[in-house]
Amino acid sequence: MSSKAGHGFHFSRAILLWFHAHKRSLPWRKTRDPYKIWVSEIMLQQTTVGAVIPYYEKWLKRFPDVRSLSRAPLQKILKAWQGLGYYQRARNLHRAAKILVQEKGGKFPDRYEELRVLPGFGAYTTAAVLSIAFDRPYPVIDANVRRLLMRIYGIRGEADAERDKILLNRLIPHFPKQNAGTFNQALMELGALICKPRNPICLLCPVQTSCLAFERGEQEVIPRPKRRTYHKIEAVVAIIRKDGKVLLQKRPPTGLLAGLWEFPGGKKKPGESLKAALAREIREELGVALGKARYLMRVRHSYTQFDVTLHAFEGTLQGEPKLKKNSHRWVGLRSLQSYPFPSGSAKIVKALQSPAASRSKPLDRS
Ligand code: SF4
Repeated sequence: MSSKAGHGFHFSRAILLWFHAHKRSLPWRKTRDPYKIWVSEIMLQQTTVGAVIPYYEKWLKRFPDVRSLSRAPLQKILKAWQGLGYYQRARNLHRAAKILVQEKGGKFPDRYEELRVLPGFGAYTTAAVLSIAFDRPYPVIDANVRRLLMRIYGIRGEADAERDKILLNRLIPHFPKQNAGTFNQALMELGALICKPRNPICLLCPVQTSCLAFERGEQEVIPRPKRRTYHKIEAVVAIIRKDGKVLLQKRPPTGLLAGLWEFPGGKKKPGESLKAALAREIREELGVALGKARYLMRVRHSYTQFDVTLHAFEGTLQGEPKLKKNSHRWVGLRSLQSYPFPSGSAKIVKALQSPAASRSKPLDRS
């Protein structure tokens, strides 16, 4: 490796100067409250800054501190999280808040060992909270920092966590003893705004002269893009009505989209028609035959690893469904608002509540 990127870490000063001049004004940058920083860090995992801001602000109104979060029912928390995806993050926030209240009197510990054992506190989150809220000298490596450092050091290959050890070893000796949180945020911001995944803006980069990828013209090929396997799923659901209410069922407490509510139905098998799939799912889930089924609408939603097309039918049942007390519920259209749904089902709810729902023509809510 060329000695270029090994020049002390004199560019840490350049990064800090750049950060002070160009950082975005983000709500979580106006606080040192570990609770608020924790919430923002969890929300920002897998989600863009623009999408997080309204969620963050609403969340803090609903759950202003760790005590209010610990007291809230899980359903309310999942509802507040609806649309952010990766619901395990919300469940972990809740579990960790309860532990913090029960075992630490609602106070955030500032020691790595104490935080790292809490639900959802991986190495990244622990370091982020400790450095930003308590100015403890823990470096953080998120996707933006990983890409930035791989380019600066000219490390080829895919950007995966396996490389973090190498990156940390290079970063740690040059890590500032004070203002660790600011330095971490500066690295993240530089990765997000300048050293972007595609078309990095090297001309405006404060560390261009220290960057091996730039010197070699490899900034577009470091890191190597990941090969993604992307699945397409087709699913069918039935809107079953009784006395002005619709039937909802709750997903199992573990696994994908755990604990969220949805309409009865499920995945279509290869070669199966939509109606046949719906009849099978209804028989399996409600123990009763499907009666009439009228096509109502189609919605599409892209999750990180799959793309789902949901076909919704207005359905009737031939007999009484076998309902489970804790996982089925008849709910009025207006009360649907208080139930947490996966994003695809939430689009159906929105359509059902709109005046267009009464149209006879099928709707496309893709
Ligand atoms: Fe990234 Fe370009 Fe800056 Fe290198 S010079 S760190 S590739 S923006």
